[in-house]
Amino acid sequence: MLQIKNINTYYGKVHVLRDVSIEVREQEIVSIIGANGAGKSTLMRSVMGIIHPKSGDIIFEGGGISRLKTDQVVKRGIVYVPEGREVFPELTVEENLEMGAFSKRYSSAKYQSLLAEMYGMYPRLKDRRKQFAGSLSGGEQQMLAIARGLMSEPKLIMFDEPSLGLAPVIVDEMFDAIVKINREKKLPVILVEQNAFAALSISHRCYVLENGVVTAQGPSRELINSPDVKKAYLGG
Ligand code: ATP
Repeated sequence: MLQIKNINTYYGKVHVLRDVSIEVREQEIVSIIGANGAGKSTLMRSVMGIIHPKSGDIIFEGGGISRLKTDQVVKRGIVYVPEGREVFPELTVEENLEMGAFSKRYSSAKYQSLLAEMYGMYPRLKDRRKQFAGSLSGGEQQMLAIARGLMSEPKLIMFDEPSLGLAPVIVDEMFDAIVKINREKKLPVILVEQNAFAALSISHRCYVLENGVVTAQGPSRELINSPDVKKAYLGG
């Protein structure tokens, strides 16, 4: 459903992504692992139209999106949960969820049913619905960022380092939430992670990005046993 074909992305003269090709099929979790500065965020930003690749194509559901602006990409049904979550701290939990639905012009009944679904999935958000998002814990903010993304009923959701800065027990909860979204909503997921073991454990397929180049790819259960991947990303 998403095909990234040989994209080259630059910041000024700096050539960051080099002939990167990645495919996401229906109902898959695809993980992208790589060290700091490998170009993972740049790849997400290229899909979202925040930065445009100089060459190559990005095809979503059969149509080219590499020249679209971010709001047009969002309208096509791709949602991005960026690194650092970026909830609106001075809005309440419920107002943040409302922002996620803003562009969709749902009927009131539809909006209420989606809200109920999010609160069913994340009961802690329901308990805190009148609380300012800025006062939530890191894990709760991550859940809110996910729920806000889901309020627009996306066709594909991308997570940029969702485990960053979270306590280990919360990290497990967050990865469980991603698996649940993928299974229950049959939603394809792109998961960008430095936590390679967790990413490989929950994804169907994985791409390894090194200095802007895809150096390995395949089913996650194969990569998790690859000597090169073990050595570089799984602590030997
Ligand atoms: P991290 O996990 O640390 O976020 P990453 O794999 O997401 O790393 P990117 O953020 O995509 O990597 O960065 C890839 C390269 O592009 C890095 O060398 C970075 O310094 C450079 N870069 C990122 N953003 C910009 C920018 N706005 N202007 C210039 N160079 C940038």
